[in-house]
Amino acid sequence: MEERGQALVERLRQEYLDALLVTSLPNVRYLTGFSGTNAILLVTATQRWLFTDFRYADQAAAEAGANAHVVIEATSLWRGLWETLRTLRSIHAVGFESAHLVHRDFERLLKDGTAWNWRPFVDLVERLREKKDPGELDNIREAARVAQAALAHTLPMVRPGMTELQVAGILEHALRDHGSEEHPFTTIVASGERTALPHARAGSRAIAHGDLLLLDFGATVSGYCSDVTRTVVVGQADDRQREVHAAVHAANEAARARVRSGMTGKEADAIARGVLERYGLSEAFGHGLGHGIGLEVHEGPRLSRMSEQVLPEGAVVTIEPGAYLSGWGGIRIEDNVRLSDAGAELLTDLPRQLIELT
Ligand code: ZN
Ligand code: ZN
Repeated sequence: MEERGQALVERLRQEYLDALLVTSLPNVRYLTGFSGTNAILLVTATQRWLFTDFRYADQAAAEAGANAHVVIEATSLWRGLWETLRTLRSIHAVGFESAHLVHRDFERLLKDGTAWNWRPFVDLVERLREKKDPGELDNIREAARVAQAALAHTLPMVRPGMTELQVAGILEHALRDHGSEEHPFTTIVASGERTALPHARAGSRAIAHGDLLLLDFGATVSGYCSDVTRTVVVGQADDRQREVHAAVHAANEAARARVRSGMTGKEADAIARGVLERYGLSEAFGHGLGHGIGLEVHEGPRLSRMSEQVLPEGAVVTIEPGAYLSGWGGIRIEDNVRLSDAGAELLTDLPRQLIELT
């Protein structure tokens, strides 16, 4: 926490800011440890105030008491903010998170905050979050382990005739059982041609013999997420299923072997895209190669065709090439890795060969 606070103060100094108003809850958690669902945080060069409500009085003191002045507000968190700001004589330029402030709250700045010079920022704290410290890495590693154990428990129980929702139920139960605090995103279980929908929701479709079955899910440990995908065949695979799986597998393998910090997100994405192109599947890979994971399941850095950002050492990202053919189905193989200039360290170790559930 100490180091994170110092890194942020250095950023404020570089941006000529006297203070920053943090309204993103994951950013609040990153900077203070507070994990409740209602809070705003004011950060200056020397102090921090966490404003929350009665429900979180004990929790905020326990989680964030060492890192911030905890202020419990009975009516509005903003009342506490204005009162505190008025006592701080030397605060003029205050940054706010323009991606995390709804318009109604922005109007508060215009109406009640006229004494300060408000400046919008995007990704100021998010950029600090990209490089994971050893404690964060341990949590993600554990979240990956939990996800793997849950999948290993689930696959042998899948039978033709079960619905996607039933499989999702078994998987989510196993995730909880192995220690996941919550589901970091809506579990995706798609079967048959529905696997062509990259973000399908599990539905009432009954799984048939010979279907592709795609499972994309994660665990949460101490607030940190894992995010993995495997695509299997329920029964024996046909030639086309083998062919497309082999292509996606080769793309995943090439990316794991060659992605490293110091390259851009675009260069990383191109490694997998080039492999799929050789199989005639570049058109079928419509999303990016991966994204950062941490307190949120989708965070920076992005590994995509658009990203010119240099991937930082210590970032934890997904590697998830896929191929989606409308009317036929789709295959995705998603792993989690930690980046360094030596390469990508694997945090997930599930089989990547095509699994046939027979
Ligand atoms: Zn995923
Ligand atoms: Zn993902």
